[in-house]
Amino acid sequence: MKSKYALALGAGAACSIAQAAPSIACHAPLRRRLFPGLSGIGDRAHVALTFDDGPDPRSTPQFLEALDTLGFHATFFMLGSMVKAAPHLAADVAAAGHEIAVHGYRHRTHLLQSPRSVHDDLRRGADTIADTTGADLYWHRPPFGTVSAGTLLGCRQLGLRLVLWTSWGRDWRASATAGSVVADLTRVPLGGATLLLHDSDCTSAVHCWRAALGALEPLAEQIADRGLTAGTLSEHGL
Ligand SMILES: [Zn+2]
Repeated sequence: MKSKYALALGAGAACSIAQAAPSIACHAPLRRRLFPGLSGIGDRAHVALTFDDGPDPRSTPQFLEALDTLGFHATFFMLGSMVKAAPHLAADVAAAGHEIAVHGYRHRTHLLQSPRSVHDDLRRGADTIADTTGADLYWHRPPFGTVSAGTLLGCRQLGLRLVLWTSWGRDWRASATAGSVVADLTRVPLGGATLLLHDSDCTSAVHCWRAALGALEPLAEQIADRGLTAGTLSEHGL
């Protein structure tokens, strides 16, 4: 894919994040304060909806239907391996007007890979996703949110912008429920937040996607009650 966009982080910031990345990525309150853009904190009147790990024929169609009913568009961080297994579904997600982004080809932490290996996985993922969906790719979120020097270099070389999340639903747990997902997502102010959910259980507890799916309607009510709008990362003012 072409490199159309500059990495949001400057070289100096990138180097310092690379040094401290694992601890910052895992320490959400500190990350939100020090790196609001990396943490997806944007327009205070808007909520960014993001879904990782799909597309998955067992679950993604239900998310597309629910989002259509609610009138929301979201950003889907796809895995190239999942796109390869379900190319028509990946194209359906794009055709429904959702934003397509890169999670990688395989779901492996970047911390245990060489920069070359991370780059190769990112390029393979981005090429597969772009070729299948026809989407212009802008965002990258690494598996597990783990950021290494290889992540930053790979993003720069491929013209992707790195973004993590402001709040997660912890929807990957077997014990997650729609209520627990909404409660976890709303531990931070919704206005300006980037919310992380999963439209597949391919890397987590079997059927846990049902908790995320069930959370969408009550979440939409909270968004409406606060007078906020919801949509993609590119609409989020980052
Ligand atoms: Zn993931």
